[in-house]
Amino acid sequence: MKIPFDYKGVHVCDAVVLCCIDFRFWKETIKFVEEELGIKTYDFPKMPGAAKAINDCLSEVDVPMKCIGVPCDLHHAQKIVIVNHADCGAYGGSNEFKGDIEAEQKFHEGELQRAKEKILKYYPGKEIILAYAKLVDGGENVEFVMVD
Ligand SMILES: [Zn+2]
Repeated sequence: MKIPFDYKGVHVCDAVVLCCIDFRFWKETIKFVEEELGIKTYDFPKMPGAAKAINDCLSEVDVPMKCIGVPCDLHHAQKIVIVNHADCGAYGGSNEFKGDIEAEQKFHEGELQRAKEKILKYYPGKEIILAYAKLVDGGENVEFVMVD
């Protein structure tokens, strides 16, 4: 198989997008990032729990932090996007919240904010964008909610 390579001579991208490995959400995350955020070039690491992987890091040489660091240092990414999602197995799934979807969202918002603060310690001055992929309409749709 041979396909055109769009990035000959290009070593710079706009962003790094960290999301969960979960097969149910990453394609949707691409749509959100490209269509809603308007970001077209980005490194795209996936780690179980997204923000959880960052929050569990003990230092900047841990793999999840490197997934942020390499795009920033090597590809000069200016934006860092972190996306957590509902029913995330890395956090024990929705069952942990006993059906309280508000509590689940609040928890993930806290996790995302914690990850943001941690990343800013190592990479001050970057624009950090946080989002939560929420299941809505009885599980028929995924809604990406921006988190401040
Ligand atoms: Zn997950």
